[in-house]
Amino acid sequence: MPELPEVETVVRQLRQAVCFRTIEAVTIKDPKVISPAVAQGLPARVIDIARRGKSIIFTLDSNAYLLAHLRMTGHFHVVPSRSASLEYQKYLSGIFHLDGGSFFTFNEIRRFGGITKVSAKELEKAFSRLGPEPLADSFTFTAFDSLLHRFPSAVIKTKLMDQSFLAGLGNIYAQEALYRAGIHPQTKIEEIGVSKRKRLYHGLREILRLAIKCNGTTIQNFSHLDGKGSFQDLLSVYQREKCPRRHRVERINQGGRSTYYCPRCQK
Ligand SMILES: [Zn+2]
Repeated sequence: MPELPEVETVVRQLRQAVCFRTIEAVTIKDPKVISPAVAQGLPARVIDIARRGKSIIFTLDSNAYLLAHLRMTGHFHVVPSRSASLEYQKYLSGIFHLDGGSFFTFNEIRRFGGITKVSAKELEKAFSRLGPEPLADSFTFTAFDSLLHRFPSAVIKTKLMDQSFLAGLGNIYAQEALYRAGIHPQTKIEEIGVSKRKRLYHGLREILRLAIKCNGTTIQNFSHLDGKGSFQDLLSVYQREKCPRRHRVERINQGGRSTYYCPRCQK
């Protein structure tokens, strides 16, 4: 499932291809995935494309926003007007026709993701319960530490994946960050000393930045606009048999999700 680095990769690519272009019309093929409201109020110019948590926000000059979620298998294709590729027709949910004859599509195999049209107020409401952005300048160690202090008895891995605690992390990067910090995934927050909290804070941000540089992680489905991510080659414990120090990695179940960790590096 796409997490912060994968969504950020898609946002950066969409920004290059779609920002400051005008959406002339939208053809909706699957109204369960693309809300019919998306086709109304056009043409409209896209003046910004941004990410919040795992969501993608298109700001339109018509005072409205398109809110997109990739979930498991949502995918954007940008198709130049003279493209011969028909790849975009697979699992096609909708076509966004741009000025000049090019277009982009949204494709969803499993139909969990989607695009809706929202007002500024609805957008604010959608994000009102979302935690801070881990890569924001304002997210200092002090900010992270005071967040941790609010949930002393929570299990660290579960909390890292909680979107109201911290925005954008999922199963893969939570595990990788814990490996970097040398913290066992079942540890209660109150049992983590300050030096490990610092390692976790820095490890978390390093890993997210590095994964963005690699265009994300492709394990099963994720592909960005130009292909697949490459961070899977740099994973330390997730779906690994050995950690980078050649210890055997173990797998446990936490809240229905698999957690990989190294019992020797993570205590
Ligand atoms: Zn190890």
